Amino acid sequence: MSKRVLIIGSGPAGLTSAIYSVRGGLEPVVISGSLPGGQLMLTSEVENYPGFAEPIMGPQLMDEMRKQAERLGTKFVDTDATSVDFSSKTFKVVAGEETYEGDAVIIATGASAMWLGLDSEQRLRGRGVSACATCDGFFFKDKEVVVVGGGDTAMEEALFLTKFATKVTVIHRRDELRASKILQARAFENPKINFLWNTMVEDIVGRDQVEGVRVKNLVTGETSKIVCQGVFVAIGHKPNTEIFRGHVEVDEKGYAVRKNETRSSTDGVFVAGDVYDYVYRQAVTAAASGCKAALDAIKYLESSR
Ligand code: NAP
Repeated sequence: MSKRVLIIGSGPAGLTSAIYSVRGGLEPVVISGSLPGGQLMLTSEVENYPGFAEPIMGPQLMDEMRKQAERLGTKFVDTDATSVDFSSKTFKVVAGEETYEGDAVIIATGASAMWLGLDSEQRLRGRGVSACATCDGFFFKDKEVVVVGGGDTAMEEALFLTKFATKVTVIHRRDELRASKILQARAFENPKINFLWNTMVEDIVGRDQVEGVRVKNLVTGETSKIVCQGVFVAIGHKPNTEIFRGHVEVDEKGYAVRKNETRSSTDGVFVAGDVYDYVYRQAVTAAASGCKAALDAIKYLESSR
Protein backbone atom coordinates (compact mmCIF):
# COMPACT_ATOMS: atom_id res chain seq x y z
CA MET A 1 0.00 0.00 0.00
CA SER A 2 1.37 3.41 -0.88
CA LYS A 3 2.40 5.67 1.94
CA ARG A 4 0.68 8.94 2.59
CA VAL A 5 2.51 12.24 2.89
CA LEU A 6 0.71 15.24 4.35
CA ILE A 7 1.87 18.49 2.74
CA ILE A 8 0.91 21.63 4.62
CA GLY A 9 0.92 24.70 2.38
CA SER A 10 0.21 25.21 -1.31
CA GLY A 11 2.73 27.73 -2.61
CA PRO A 12 5.47 26.66 -5.04
CA ALA A 13 7.20 24.61 -2.29
CA GLY A 14 4.10 22.63 -1.30
CA LEU A 15 2.86 22.03 -4.84
CA THR A 16 6.27 20.98 -6.16
CA SER A 17 6.63 18.56 -3.25
CA ALA A 18 3.19 17.14 -4.16
CA ILE A 19 4.23 16.66 -7.79
CA TYR A 20 7.44 14.86 -6.82
CA SER A 21 5.73 12.83 -4.07
CA VAL A 22 3.06 11.45 -6.34
CA ARG A 23 5.60 10.60 -9.03
CA GLY A 24 7.69 8.89 -6.38
CA GLY A 25 4.84 6.54 -5.50
CA LEU A 26 3.48 8.35 -2.45
CA GLU A 27 -0.09 9.45 -1.85
CA PRO A 28 0.10 13.22 -1.16
CA VAL A 29 -2.63 15.18 0.54
CA VAL A 30 -2.10 18.94 0.36
CA ILE A 31 -3.67 20.92 3.17
CA SER A 32 -3.70 24.07 1.15
CA GLY A 33 -5.18 26.55 3.60
CA SER A 34 -8.21 28.76 3.18
CA LEU A 35 -6.18 31.11 0.94
CA PRO A 36 -4.38 28.62 -1.32
CA GLY A 37 -1.40 29.50 -3.49
CA GLY A 38 0.87 31.39 -1.12
CA GLN A 39 2.60 34.70 -1.65
CA LEU A 40 2.47 34.53 -5.46
CA MET A 41 -1.28 35.06 -5.20
CA LEU A 42 -0.43 38.61 -4.12
CA THR A 43 1.88 39.44 -7.01
CA SER A 44 1.06 40.54 -10.51
CA GLU A 45 3.33 39.62 -13.44
CA VAL A 46 6.01 37.00 -12.81
CA GLU A 47 8.91 37.30 -15.22
CA ASN A 48 11.58 35.31 -13.42
CA TYR A 49 10.02 31.85 -13.15
CA PRO A 50 11.66 29.78 -15.88
CA GLY A 51 9.51 28.17 -18.55
CA PHE A 52 7.32 31.12 -19.50
CA ALA A 53 8.58 33.16 -22.42
CA GLU A 54 5.87 35.75 -21.76
CA PRO A 55 5.15 37.06 -18.24
CA ILE A 56 2.61 35.01 -16.33
CA MET A 57 0.38 36.39 -13.57
CA GLY A 58 1.24 35.03 -10.10
CA PRO A 59 -2.25 33.55 -9.47
CA GLN A 60 -2.25 31.91 -12.92
CA LEU A 61 1.14 30.32 -12.28
CA MET A 62 -0.17 28.88 -9.02
CA ASP A 63 -3.33 27.65 -10.75
CA GLU A 64 -1.20 25.81 -13.34
CA MET A 65 0.95 24.25 -10.60
CA ARG A 66 -2.12 23.09 -8.73
CA LYS A 67 -3.71 21.60 -11.87
CA GLN A 68 -0.45 19.79 -12.60
CA ALA A 69 -0.42 18.32 -9.07
CA GLU A 70 -4.14 17.43 -9.34
CA ARG A 71 -3.76 15.77 -12.73
CA LEU A 72 -1.09 13.51 -11.27
CA GLY A 73 -3.42 12.47 -8.43
CA THR A 74 -2.81 14.84 -5.50
CA LYS A 75 -5.73 15.34 -3.13
CA PHE A 76 -6.40 18.85 -1.83
CA VAL A 77 -8.02 20.03 1.38
CA ASP A 78 -8.79 23.74 1.13
CA THR A 79 -8.92 24.60 4.80
CA ASP A 80 -6.27 25.78 7.26
CA ALA A 81 -4.34 23.27 9.31
CA THR A 82 -5.08 24.30 12.88
CA SER A 83 -3.06 21.84 14.96
CA VAL A 84 -0.62 18.97 14.57
CA ASP A 85 0.50 15.95 16.58
CA PHE A 86 3.90 14.55 15.56
CA SER A 87 4.41 12.48 18.73
CA SER A 88 3.89 9.06 17.07
CA LYS A 89 5.00 7.62 13.71
CA THR A 90 1.51 8.22 12.38
CA PHE A 91 1.57 11.99 12.07
CA LYS A 92 -1.70 13.83 12.60
CA VAL A 93 -2.82 17.17 11.19
CA VAL A 94 -6.18 18.72 12.06
CA ALA A 95 -7.81 20.84 9.35
CA GLY A 96 -11.43 21.93 9.59
CA GLU A 97 -13.44 19.15 11.25
CA GLU A 98 -11.09 16.40 10.06
CA THR A 99 -7.90 14.83 11.38
CA TYR A 100 -5.60 13.67 8.58
CA GLU A 101 -3.02 10.96 9.16
CA GLY A 102 0.24 10.50 7.29
CA ASP A 103 3.47 8.54 7.30
CA ALA A 104 5.50 11.68 6.62
CA VAL A 105 4.83 15.43 6.66
CA ILE A 106 6.21 18.27 4.56
CA ILE A 107 5.79 21.70 6.11
CA ALA A 108 5.60 24.31 3.36
CA THR A 109 3.57 27.03 5.05
CA GLY A 110 5.87 29.84 3.91
CA ALA A 111 6.24 33.25 5.44
CA SER A 112 4.20 36.39 5.27
CA ALA A 113 5.68 39.81 4.56
CA MET A 114 5.11 42.23 7.40
CA TRP A 115 3.27 45.39 6.42
CA LEU A 116 3.07 48.84 7.93
CA GLY A 117 -0.64 48.44 8.58
CA LEU A 118 -1.89 51.40 6.53
CA ASP A 119 -5.17 51.20 4.58
CA SER A 120 -3.49 52.90 1.61
CA GLU A 121 -0.77 50.23 1.64
CA GLN A 122 -3.29 47.43 1.10
CA ARG A 123 -5.28 49.41 -1.47
CA LEU A 124 -2.17 50.15 -3.57
CA ARG A 125 -0.56 46.69 -3.37
CA GLY A 126 0.44 45.72 -6.92
CA ARG A 127 -0.12 49.39 -7.92
CA GLY A 128 3.25 50.62 -6.76
CA VAL A 129 3.36 49.03 -3.32
CA SER A 130 5.39 45.83 -3.07
CA ALA A 131 7.31 43.74 -0.56
CA CYS A 132 9.64 42.16 -3.12
CA ALA A 133 12.13 44.15 -5.21
CA THR A 134 13.38 41.03 -6.99
CA CYS A 135 9.81 40.36 -8.14
CA ASP A 136 8.68 43.87 -8.99
CA GLY A 137 11.77 46.12 -9.28
CA PHE A 138 11.84 45.79 -13.04
CA PHE A 139 8.57 47.75 -13.31
CA PHE A 140 10.26 50.85 -11.83
CA LYS A 141 12.68 51.63 -14.63
CA ASP A 142 13.51 55.35 -14.61
CA LYS A 143 11.17 55.95 -11.67
CA GLU A 144 11.71 57.14 -8.10
CA VAL A 145 11.05 54.71 -5.26
CA VAL A 146 11.25 54.50 -1.49
CA VAL A 147 12.27 51.52 0.64
CA VAL A 148 10.97 51.29 4.21
CA GLY A 149 13.16 49.52 6.79
CA GLY A 150 16.72 49.42 8.03
CA GLY A 151 17.67 45.73 7.99
CA ASP A 152 19.56 43.52 5.53
CA THR A 153 16.48 43.03 3.40
CA ALA A 154 15.91 46.79 3.10
CA MET A 155 19.54 47.34 2.03
CA GLU A 156 19.42 44.49 -0.47
CA GLU A 157 16.14 45.76 -1.89
CA ALA A 158 17.51 49.32 -2.12
CA LEU A 159 20.70 48.18 -3.85
CA PHE A 160 18.77 45.98 -6.26
CA LEU A 161 16.36 48.80 -7.10
CA THR A 162 19.22 51.10 -8.15
CA LYS A 163 19.50 48.96 -11.29
CA PHE A 164 16.18 50.37 -12.44
CA ALA A 165 15.14 53.42 -10.46
CA THR A 166 16.71 56.86 -10.85
CA LYS A 167 16.51 57.51 -7.12
CA VAL A 168 16.00 55.24 -4.09
CA THR A 169 15.15 56.77 -0.72
CA VAL A 170 15.51 54.53 2.33
CA ILE A 171 13.14 55.55 5.10
CA HIS A 172 14.17 54.26 8.52
CA ARG A 173 12.54 54.88 11.89
CA ARG A 174 15.87 55.21 13.77
CA ASP A 175 19.17 56.99 13.09
CA GLU A 176 21.19 53.83 12.60
CA LEU A 177 20.69 50.77 10.48
CA ARG A 178 20.18 47.23 11.71
CA ALA A 179 21.73 45.85 8.49
CA SER A 180 25.16 44.18 8.42
CA LYS A 181 28.11 46.56 8.06
CA ILE A 182 28.97 45.31 4.59
CA LEU A 183 25.50 45.97 3.22
CA GLN A 184 25.39 49.34 4.96
CA ALA A 185 28.69 50.32 3.36
CA ARG A 186 27.47 49.31 -0.09
CA ALA A 187 24.27 51.30 0.35
CA PHE A 188 26.10 54.40 1.66
CA GLU A 189 28.49 54.28 -1.30
CA ASN A 190 25.75 54.07 -3.90
CA PRO A 191 25.05 57.54 -5.33
CA LYS A 192 21.44 56.67 -6.19
CA ILE A 193 20.54 55.82 -2.57
CA ASN A 194 19.73 58.48 0.00
CA PHE A 195 18.46 58.10 3.56
CA LEU A 196 15.71 59.65 5.61
CA TRP A 197 16.49 58.98 9.28
CA ASN A 198 14.14 58.95 12.28
CA THR A 199 11.27 58.92 9.87
CA MET A 200 8.06 56.93 9.60
CA VAL A 201 5.63 56.60 6.75
CA GLU A 202 2.26 57.96 7.81
CA ASP A 203 0.43 57.36 4.57
CA ILE A 204 0.90 56.30 0.97
CA VAL A 205 -0.61 58.77 -1.44
CA GLY A 206 -2.25 58.01 -4.77
CA ARG A 207 -5.67 57.00 -6.10
CA ASP A 208 -4.97 54.16 -8.52
CA GLN A 209 -1.17 54.25 -8.49
CA VAL A 210 1.39 55.33 -5.92
CA GLU A 211 2.18 59.02 -6.25
CA GLY A 212 4.16 59.55 -3.06
CA VAL A 213 4.39 59.02 0.67
CA ARG A 214 3.59 61.29 3.58
CA VAL A 215 6.30 60.99 6.20
CA LYS A 216 6.84 62.23 9.71
CA ASN A 217 10.17 63.02 11.32
CA LEU A 218 10.01 61.34 14.73
CA VAL A 219 12.44 63.83 16.31
CA THR A 220 11.01 67.13 15.08
CA GLY A 221 7.43 65.97 14.47
CA GLU A 222 7.55 67.66 11.05
CA THR A 223 5.57 66.05 8.22
CA SER A 224 6.38 66.23 4.53
CA LYS A 225 5.54 64.51 1.24
CA ILE A 226 7.99 62.62 -0.92
CA VAL A 227 7.11 62.10 -4.54
CA CYS A 228 7.71 58.52 -5.71
CA GLN A 229 6.09 55.91 -7.91
CA GLY A 230 7.06 52.85 -5.88
CA VAL A 231 7.03 51.90 -2.19
CA PHE A 232 8.95 48.78 -1.12
CA VAL A 233 8.12 47.67 2.39
CA ALA A 234 11.08 45.72 3.81
CA ILE A 235 10.37 45.51 7.52
CA GLY A 236 10.75 41.75 7.83
CA HIS A 237 8.85 38.54 7.25
CA LYS A 238 7.04 36.30 9.65
CA PRO A 239 7.35 32.55 9.09
CA ASN A 240 4.04 30.73 9.40
CA THR A 241 5.05 28.28 12.10
CA GLU A 242 2.71 29.03 15.03
CA ILE A 243 0.96 25.65 14.92
CA PHE A 244 4.28 23.76 14.80
CA ARG A 245 5.81 25.24 17.95
CA GLY A 246 6.68 22.43 20.33
CA HIS A 247 6.41 19.87 17.49
CA VAL A 248 9.45 20.90 15.43
CA GLU A 249 12.28 23.18 16.48
CA VAL A 250 12.09 26.81 15.35
CA ASP A 251 14.69 29.58 15.84
CA GLU A 252 14.20 32.79 17.81
CA LYS A 253 12.46 34.43 14.83
CA GLY A 254 10.19 31.42 14.29
CA TYR A 255 11.94 29.95 11.21
CA ALA A 256 12.04 26.14 11.09
CA VAL A 257 15.42 24.73 12.09
CA ARG A 258 16.85 22.04 9.79
CA LYS A 259 18.95 19.01 10.73
CA ASN A 260 20.18 18.82 7.17
CA GLU A 261 18.89 19.96 3.77
CA THR A 262 15.12 19.50 4.38
CA ARG A 263 14.90 17.44 7.57
CA SER A 264 13.30 19.17 10.52
CA SER A 265 14.23 18.35 14.11
CA THR A 266 11.49 15.65 14.07
CA ASP A 267 12.18 12.47 12.07
CA GLY A 268 9.74 12.08 9.19
CA VAL A 269 8.82 15.79 9.15
CA PHE A 270 10.42 17.80 6.34
CA VAL A 271 10.45 21.52 5.59
CA ALA A 272 10.41 23.34 2.26
CA GLY A 273 10.49 26.95 1.10
CA ASP A 274 10.22 30.23 3.00
CA VAL A 275 9.23 28.53 6.25
CA TYR A 276 12.98 28.05 6.80
CA ASP A 277 14.60 30.06 4.00
CA TYR A 278 14.84 33.75 4.86
CA VAL A 279 17.63 34.45 2.40
CA TYR A 280 16.49 33.52 -1.12
CA ARG A 281 12.67 33.62 -0.84
CA GLN A 282 12.01 33.12 -4.56
CA ALA A 283 9.30 31.00 -6.19
CA VAL A 284 11.95 28.98 -8.01
CA THR A 285 14.05 28.33 -4.89
CA ALA A 286 10.90 27.39 -2.94
CA ALA A 287 9.92 24.98 -5.73
CA ALA A 288 13.42 23.49 -5.69
CA SER A 289 13.31 22.91 -1.95
CA GLY A 290 9.83 21.34 -2.33
CA CYS A 291 11.38 18.88 -4.77
CA LYS A 292 14.19 18.09 -2.32
CA ALA A 293 11.75 17.65 0.58
CA ALA A 294 9.68 15.15 -1.44
CA LEU A 295 12.77 13.18 -2.50
CA ASP A 296 13.96 13.13 1.13
CA ALA A 297 10.50 12.00 2.32
CA ILE A 298 10.48 9.20 -0.26
CA LYS A 299 13.93 8.05 0.90
CA TYR A 300 12.87 8.24 4.56
CA LEU A 301 9.75 6.13 3.92
CA GLU A 302 11.70 3.56 1.91
CA SER A 303 14.25 3.15 4.67
CA SER A 304 11.56 2.89 7.38
CA ARG A 305 9.64 0.09 5.63
P1 NAP B 1 14.97 42.63 10.24
O1 NAP B 1 16.42 42.35 10.40
O2 NAP B 1 14.04 42.23 11.31
O3 NAP B 1 14.84 44.21 9.98
C1 NAP B 1 13.60 44.82 9.88
C2 NAP B 1 13.79 46.33 9.75
O4 NAP B 1 12.52 46.93 9.59
C3 NAP B 1 14.46 46.97 10.99
O5 NAP B 1 15.36 47.96 10.59
C4 NAP B 1 13.27 47.55 11.73
O6 NAP B 1 13.58 48.73 12.43
C5 NAP B 1 12.32 47.90 10.62
N1 NAP B 1 10.93 47.80 11.05
C6 NAP B 1 10.31 46.77 11.66
N2 NAP B 1 9.01 47.04 11.85
C7 NAP B 1 8.81 48.29 11.39
C8 NAP B 1 7.68 49.13 11.32
N3 NAP B 1 6.48 48.74 11.74
N4 NAP B 1 7.83 50.35 10.76
C9 NAP B 1 9.03 50.77 10.30
N5 NAP B 1 10.14 50.01 10.33
C10 NAP B 1 10.04 48.77 10.88
O7 NAP B 1 14.35 41.95 8.91
P2 NAP B 1 15.07 41.64 7.51
O8 NAP B 1 15.88 42.77 7.05
O9 NAP B 1 13.98 41.14 6.61
O10 NAP B 1 16.05 40.43 7.83
C11 NAP B 1 15.53 39.21 8.42
C12 NAP B 1 16.69 38.24 8.66
O11 NAP B 1 17.20 37.80 7.40
C13 NAP B 1 17.86 38.89 9.39
O12 NAP B 1 18.42 37.94 10.25
C14 NAP B 1 18.81 39.25 8.27
O13 NAP B 1 20.16 39.33 8.70
C15 NAP B 1 18.57 38.09 7.30
N6 NAP B 1 18.90 38.49 5.92
C16 NAP B 1 20.18 38.30 5.48
C17 NAP B 1 20.54 38.68 4.20
C18 NAP B 1 21.93 38.46 3.74
O14 NAP B 1 22.74 38.02 4.55
N7 NAP B 1 22.27 38.76 2.50
C19 NAP B 1 19.61 39.28 3.34
C20 NAP B 1 18.32 39.48 3.82
C21 NAP B 1 17.98 39.09 5.11
P3 NAP B 1 14.52 48.72 13.73
O15 NAP B 1 15.91 48.54 13.23
O16 NAP B 1 14.25 50.04 14.36
O17 NAP B 1 14.02 47.57 14.57
